[in-house]
Amino acid sequence: MTFAATVLTLYPEMFPGPLGVSLAGRALGEGKWAMDAVQIRDFAIDKHKTVDDTPAGGGAGMVLRVDVLAKAIDHARAAQSGCPVIALTPRGKPLTQERVRELAAGPGVILVCGRFEGFDERIFEGRAVEEVSVGDIVLSGGECAALMLLDACIRLLPGVMGAACSGHEESFENGLLEYPHYTRPAEWEGRTIPEVLRSGDHAKIAAWRKSQSEIDTRLRRPDLWERHIDARVQSASGAQREVQDVKK
Ligand code: SAH
Repeated sequence: MTFAATVLTLYPEMFPGPLGVSLAGRALGEGKWAMDAVQIRDFAIDKHKTVDDTPAGGGAGMVLRVDVLAKAIDHARAAQSGCPVIALTPRGKPLTQERVRELAAGPGVILVCGRFEGFDERIFEGRAVEEVSVGDIVLSGGECAALMLLDACIRLLPGVMGAACSGHEESFENGLLEYPHYTRPAEWEGRTIPEVLRSGDHAKIAAWRKSQSEIDTRLRRPDLWERHIDARVQSASGAQREVQDVKK
């Protein structure tokens, strides 16, 4: 089954954009995923094809009209039932690798890209629309966020990534950041590659990588580290004392 992405946008020409090259582009050409960028304006109701209007209560900017959005969403859903509808919004649930993995395992996704000040609130009351954020930043539109979400999903689809295993040891997959990488030259500007990586001792290398991954997570992302430790506490109920020691 092909992973199908429908993107509702005022700028369909932005798609597939960067997803038309490299791994995702090749996979698109091979039919491993499919995409349809749909112009929201095609669902406008008036003869001027209006998609937005001034905010009720006053203020700067424009707001996307709920009636137009609902028509566009209903159309996409009828064509692609069973797929979650996700609106990209800064206040949405932060996107995680776990959610990406769930989406990639499903039939596809319908993405709704905002512009201007965003969406009329009633769209979230009147339709089952999940809100997802790609970070505590404000973009000018949902398109770059949609491209990001799709890129993360597509690389997980069967047969898309070269080495089948390279998705498993990466950052976030086990709740930790990935260990650092090195490659030739063995020496660069006086800096060498850690000796253990050249030892050929696979057990030692694995242990070094695990410890680096833990150190990096603890220093760079204390929030992830806390969550990782809590998960360990839960799964190893008998070994609680040991985990408390690690936390210190
Ligand atoms: N007035 C809104 C920002 C609108 S930005 C606010 O303050 O929350 C315009 C559009 O860009 C949004 O409707 C949304 O679709 C998209 N967007 C901006 N930042 C985003 C983010 N961090 N994650 C996902 N989408 C984002």
